[in-house]
Amino acid sequence: MSKLVQASDGTLYSVDLDRNTCSCGQKTCEHLIIATDVYRNHGKRHRFSIMSASHKSGRTSSIEWAMPWAEVFASISGIGKVATYFSKCIFEDSRNLKLWAQIRNNELTSEQQVRGFILSRKKWENLPGFGEHLTWWTAAHSVYLHNKSSWNEAKLRRQIRKYQTPLEGYEIWFLVKEKKHFRPALWEELAVRAEREKNERLQWYLQYRPESGYEIMVGLELAINAFDESASEFHPDSPNPESYVPAFHEQYEDIHSYAGRRNFMHWFSPLLQGTLPPESKLSLQLSGQLWGCAFRHAAFNQRRTITLSPGRLIPWQDVRLEQETSSVAELDSLFYKSTYAALEKKGRWKPPVTPRATLPLSEELSIPE
Ligand SMILES: [Zn+2]
Repeated sequence: MSKLVQASDGTLYSVDLDRNTCSCGQKTCEHLIIATDVYRNHGKRHRFSIMSASHKSGRTSSIEWAMPWAEVFASISGIGKVATYFSKCIFEDSRNLKLWAQIRNNELTSEQQVRGFILSRKKWENLPGFGEHLTWWTAAHSVYLHNKSSWNEAKLRRQIRKYQTPLEGYEIWFLVKEKKHFRPALWEELAVRAEREKNERLQWYLQYRPESGYEIMVGLELAINAFDESASEFHPDSPNPESYVPAFHEQYEDIHSYAGRRNFMHWFSPLLQGTLPPESKLSLQLSGQLWGCAFRHAAFNQRRTITLSPGRLIPWQDVRLEQETSSVAELDSLFYKSTYAALEKKGRWKPPVTPRATLPLSEELSIPE
């Protein structure tokens, strides 16, 4: 059995797994080691990196880039597992309600689900209604911290019945993210509101019994019609490239891996200034951290793309992000508490002492009790 493996400089080498040889000519090479791990040992060593690379390359919406990774992932886990993995990420990276419903209805093969995820327009692609998404989100987090102690179930129920803006909706989202026991009340009140306002799209959505955190966010958006149906559009399809094991790039090491976390902590100070020196070996452009979301959002707004060509990302320094770094770090710390606690201990990070009480919108939008 012979398989193609890409070297870090882009060259494709042919590995013969029966004879344990590689066309690069070396006796033992990394190409042979990786091909053996993927095709003989079910990714025993590289499982995490392969899953991470599949998800990250899927965020580029490029078949040419993402499909080889999805195929490698399928080689170690089976296509069904890959489809399940991606179907759980739909609302993390996009707002593709059409794809979400098709999967719920069992209309698609595993292969179609994987393709659907890759080709979905991603939420940072400045779709109408989502251009401000990240701005609303970071602002809502500050408002939530400011008003946190005022919430109880009665207030939640009242607020769901009447909120009108994404800022208010996302504040509710932060509440039910932290206090999961409020979730049944949230779904009940969303159903009441959908019925009262004859919101057919929300009623249609609720019949599928959504429940995860990202599904709550979509429900909250549908309730105030802050949802544009063009979010369910797909990028144009294209044929699969030839199968090969792509090179592992540093960007696949993220905060969930030892090396990635160590790099992130080491280079946090320049990052907070908006810069990432190349020697940091830290590539957050496709990360699931808020840094990645903020980068993609800014890159798309400034350049209409996040990639230069398949396999190549816009460099960090080519996107202006320095205005947003403190609010990005503040929100990122909510999702990666232990990492930021360690940064605080090292004196590299200070959480906001008191929530920003002077936030201009918080007074107007806090709800009189
Ligand atoms: Zn080789």
